[in-house]
Amino acid sequence: MNNTIITDLHVHSIHSSDAKNSIEENCLSAISKGISILGFTDHIDIDYPGEGVFSKLDKNVYISDINECKKKYFHDLTVLTGLEIGLQPHLKEITDTLSKQFDVDYIIGSTHCVMGEEISANGLFKNRGMIESYNRYFEAIIENISTIDNFDILGHLDFIERYYPSNDKILKYENHSTLIDIILKILIDKKKALEINTSGYRYKLGKPHPSFEVIKRYKELGGEFICIGSDAHFANHIGADFDKAKNMLIEAGFTRYHYFIKQQPVSLEISL
Ligand SMILES: [Zn+2]
Ligand SMILES: [Zn+2]
Repeated sequence: MNNTIITDLHVHSIHSSDAKNSIEENCLSAISKGISILGFTDHIDIDYPGEGVFSKLDKNVYISDINECKKKYFHDLTVLTGLEIGLQPHLKEITDTLSKQFDVDYIIGSTHCVMGEEISANGLFKNRGMIESYNRYFEAIIENISTIDNFDILGHLDFIERYYPSNDKILKYENHSTLIDIILKILIDKKKALEINTSGYRYKLGKPHPSFEVIKRYKELGGEFICIGSDAHFANHIGADFDKAKNMLIEAGFTRYHYFIKQQPVSLEISL
């Protein structure tokens, strides 16, 4: 398989408690799928509600596993050290500390919790309709990315769709345009990348996160930095549905996509 997108910047290994494959197994899968730049983004969710299950990343083992594969596969694969950090407004300083401690290539900032509760726990949806729930989620993202500066990529912007308890749960941009535009403008002002996260296809939503309309809107507003990630929790999901992501980017008018080395963007051409 070669879809001409050669980066996958959102990959979880066994260093995340909800993922299944080692760093090395993921590297081998990436090579077999024509991915030549692979970024690991295991979870750090500080003050995660409940058991805090995503906060058990062992820095030394993580970095040593990544470094081992960097050396072993350098002919075929550039391996990047990333983190997916669960943003919450009170964690502003922590992202700075973590970026130094891990000497990261980049940080994906994701909003996994709203009002101190995980989205998948459904508390957000209690006594709220779909539009109101999604608006509350977007307000939380705005608060997080206004407060916190040290992230490079906004993760899975509309992934709340995964969890809304109804079959009819796909977001319509026009219902949330004011809040989504605020998010996109903050990203553009802060020179942060928008992630195209293809996991939505695996969740049977028939779309990436965010929706095509949102990707197009980011471009219209002047957004430049696009990163592509599968959010793989299994090695065989690396690069999944990247052909669809590529077509959407072309249709939205993008000619380039990006990855980060030591938190500096590097651009690649989208080849046809
Ligand atoms: Zn996430
Ligand atoms: Zn993830």
